[in-house]
Amino acid sequence: MTLHDMLVDEIKDLYHAEKQLTKALPKMAKAATNEDLREAFEMHLEETQEQITRLEEVFGALGEKVKAKPCAGMAGIIEEGKDTMGEDAEGAVMDAALIAAAQRAEHYEIGAYGTCVEWARLLGLDEVVSLLETTLEEEKAADKKLTALAESEINQAAVAEGESDDEEAEAPVRGNTRSRAPVARGQSSGNARTRAKAADRRRR
Ligand code: FE
Ligand code: FE
Ligand code: ZN
Repeated sequence: MTLHDMLVDEIKDLYHAEKQLTKALPKMAKAATNEDLREAFEMHLEETQEQITRLEEVFGALGEKVKAKPCAGMAGIIEEGKDTMGEDAEGAVMDAALIAAAQRAEHYEIGAYGTCVEWARLLGLDEVVSLLETTLEEEKAADKKLTALAESEINQAAVAEGESDDEEAEAPVRGNTRSRAPVARGQSSGNARTRAKAADRRRR
């Protein structure tokens, strides 16, 4: 098997990965409560459909028939995403978990496209390089957007939701504070600051 054959195999794998994502993204958009997050999923669904067309062009440029090869990696990531959507979580906590699932998918794609771009470059397949690079940039942008959504609003909102739960639960049942304490200590200083800020907002 040559590197060229290996590249064709990876493209078949990506073709199946993208196809699976077009089925998963609408479900994730539906499960999202944050409007910006829902829009991000919907926008990436449109991009993903274009990426599938782009892969078909790659097959053409390689002189290969369009063919999918089962991508177990993406299947597993989507399977975990389904578990996440089945969790008993709402609002910002579910949104934060959806971002975690979506970023796993994006990172898988970034890894795969990054490798394929490099191999195509080494093999002198200029058209393939440019097609795959376009998609790679879209995947990176999608990943960055998810990070921005998490950091700008969703993660903070998820922390604040946990706090209002704590207030309701801890007031009557004092014993609970002990089991919760280690979780609080485990948080990073970044999250601790967020908690303080959220408490501040409520006092105002
Ligand atoms: Fe993609
Ligand atoms: Fe794969
Ligand atoms: Zn993607």
